[in-house]
Amino acid sequence: MLTVLSQHTSDTNRDRAYADLRRRFATWDEVADAPLPALARAIRRGGLGPTKAVRIRAMLRGIRDSGVPLDEHAFTAVPDQDLWDTLVALPGVGPKTAACVLLFSLDRPYFPVDTHVHRVAIRLGLVPPRSDAVATQAAFQDSVSDDQMYPLHMNLIRHGREVCTAQRPRCSECVLRDLCPRIGVTSSR
Ligand code: SF4
Repeated sequence: MLTVLSQHTSDTNRDRAYADLRRRFATWDEVADAPLPALARAIRRGGLGPTKAVRIRAMLRGIRDSGVPLDEHAFTAVPDQDLWDTLVALPGVGPKTAACVLLFSLDRPYFPVDTHVHRVAIRLGLVPPRSDAVATQAAFQDSVSDDQMYPLHMNLIRHGREVCTAQRPRCSECVLRDLCPRIGVTSSR
């Protein structure tokens, strides 16, 4: 839910919208059954209320239709693979969003690949140069141990934001420069 609410808005407004939503509706079943205008009004402080209302309601109905009850603890008994299959089958939910939900909200061992992780992985030669984000995510999912998924994901994002930036990577300050196959390319710029 937070993943949908966080699209195209700040963390502060996402949190406000989520709090408003929980105040307005007592249960997730009520959200799933709510008229779209009422749902959009409830989350309007997060921006794009009508669009996000459609997504949220479709997601909740999709989860419920798959047989998983909409209560806070229902997911704890569902195996990882079943949750993954349920999430990626929902409208508007791709592998990155599904992995974010599983890793951050449900503490399951899944490895989301965003634009920073994708870029750094390619530059470091961790995946082939033409790997797309889905293939990169699959490669990390297969090769990273469960307990390292969260810290590695967070550290790669931070590295991509602060050092290995898209336009001007700060290779001279990079602690990974001795390991990086691109160092000859970037340092000659
Ligand atoms: S050496 Fe440069 S290109 Fe390689 S990981 Fe570090 S910042 Fe990125």
